[in-house]
Parts: sequence; structure tokens; C-alpha cells
Amino acid sequence: MSNRASKRAVKNGLKNQPNDFLACRDMRHAWDVSTDYFLAEDDNCIIRELECMRCHACRRDSFQIARDRRLVRNGTSYTYPEGYLMKGVPRGNKSQDLVRGEIYRRMLAQAAEASR
Ligand SMILES: [Zn+2]
Repeated sequence: MSNRASKRAVKNGLKNQPNDFLACRDMRHAWDVSTDYFLAEDDNCIIRELECMRCHACRRDSFQIARDRRLVRNGTSYTYPEGYLMKGVPRGNKSQDLVRGEIYRRMLAQAAEASR
């Protein structure tokens, strides 16, 4: 996919996203601990699970215990709510400027609606 086609896919995808999803894309997720550190019996590692307070995405971090007792993160996986990931847009696509543009566009439309 060309850079221009990718930008268009992002712009179109953002139009259908709820405000909470845009806020998370703009400011990052608002993580809260859903399951505190626990020992995974099968993997011999420590797990901690987080949930975003806004969009309810879930994040699972796994850690190894270093000899000096530090917890060293060695893996992270995410589960996103329905509709968060956009068709045709690769995960990790840096689209912050487009996200902010969409948030600003909605704010202007809301202000115009309110002044009618
Ligand atoms: Zn979120």
C-alpha cells in the first residue's frame, strides 16, 4: 500500500471511530491494573494484566525475574475492543497527526451545531 493510500485508509477509518478510541490513539491508553503480578505456572514467568479505562483494550505483560530481582519485561500482547483496529491500516501505523485532525474536526462540527 502506498503512503498516500495508507493515509486515506487511516482518515476513512478514523471517521468511524468513537471519541474514546480517538482519545486513546491521541494520548495513548489510560492503563489500570486488572490483574496484578502473578506467577504463570506453565511459563515460569510473571504476568500482569492491564485494562484501558477508556476503550477497554487489554494488555498482558510478561516478565522474567533477573538475578538481582528486577522484573525484566520480555513480552507484551494486546487485545483490542471490537472496531478499534482499522481495516487496511497496519498496527503501529503512526497516525497521530491524522487522529488529532479528526478530533479537531469533530470539535468544530460540534461547536457549529451548538451555535445554530
Ligand atoms: Zn484505550
